[in-house]
Amino acid sequence: MGVLLAGVDHGIRCPVGGSVDVMIAAAEAFLEEAQGAWRLGEIPGGPDRIAARLGATTSGTPVASGKPLASGKPLASGTPLASGTPLTSGKPLTSGDQEPPIGVIPLRDGSSGLGVIVPLGRLSAGQATALADTAVNAVRLTPWRGVVLLELNDATSAAKTLAKADLPSDPRSPWAGLSACTGQPGCAKSLADVQTDARQAVGFAQGEPVHWSGCERRCGRPRGRAVDVVATPGGYRVERDGVRRTYTDVTDMTRSAR
Ligand code: SF4
Repeated sequence: MGVLLAGVDHGIRCPVGGSVDVMIAAAEAFLEEAQGAWRLGEIPGGPDRIAARLGATTSGTPVASGKPLASGKPLASGTPLASGTPLTSGKPLTSGDQEPPIGVIPLRDGSSGLGVIVPLGRLSAGQATALADTAVNAVRLTPWRGVVLLELNDATSAAKTLAKADLPSDPRSPWAGLSACTGQPGCAKSLADVQTDARQAVGFAQGEPVHWSGCERRCGRPRGRAVDVVATPGGYRVERDGVRRTYTDVTDMTRSAR
């Protein structure tokens, strides 16, 4: 695997089994360097500084979204990380700007996969059981808060079954493109229970990516164009294409959207 630091490739490579150690080491290095910054890109020379702390030996090269990485060099010896394994040539590392897989997906072997939306990325025990009962073989988690079931004999039937468990697989679902940060009560910085409010307002700005944030940090916001719903001390602020509008609360939002 390869690790990019704010989109910059320093040639950091590790075996899949060592990826957690690399991620933790990178996060700890960030905390050492952050000095109040929220994101690595906000630290002058941030990727270089983190790479140096990790013992990377190559200079950084920005990597375009979705672009395959070149083979990398292992980290310098003496680091707490495992020595590296180059990526498979031509294999994209990042999720890039691909469309999330939602719906029936024809597979090369003649079977079908099914891309399922997990609303706000949170699976209940009942939904997890429904997925396990429906899956024939492999289940893959996606970076888009979803799940793909592979090698299904009847993906359409599986879709109907999972829809009853509130796991839609229709790209037109109001849950498609809807995301939220942790919010209250999990995050001390949050000004609102954004996950509950996002559920209440599902369908707001339907058809566009919508991200709810409990504060200006906007954790988990998807890259690119999105409608931002940001909690403020006075309610919610909605930003769309540079236009801002404020609402006193989620009820005010949904009423105005009608
Ligand atoms: S965006 Fe703010 S409130 Fe939401 S998880 Fe991040 S820090 Fe917490």
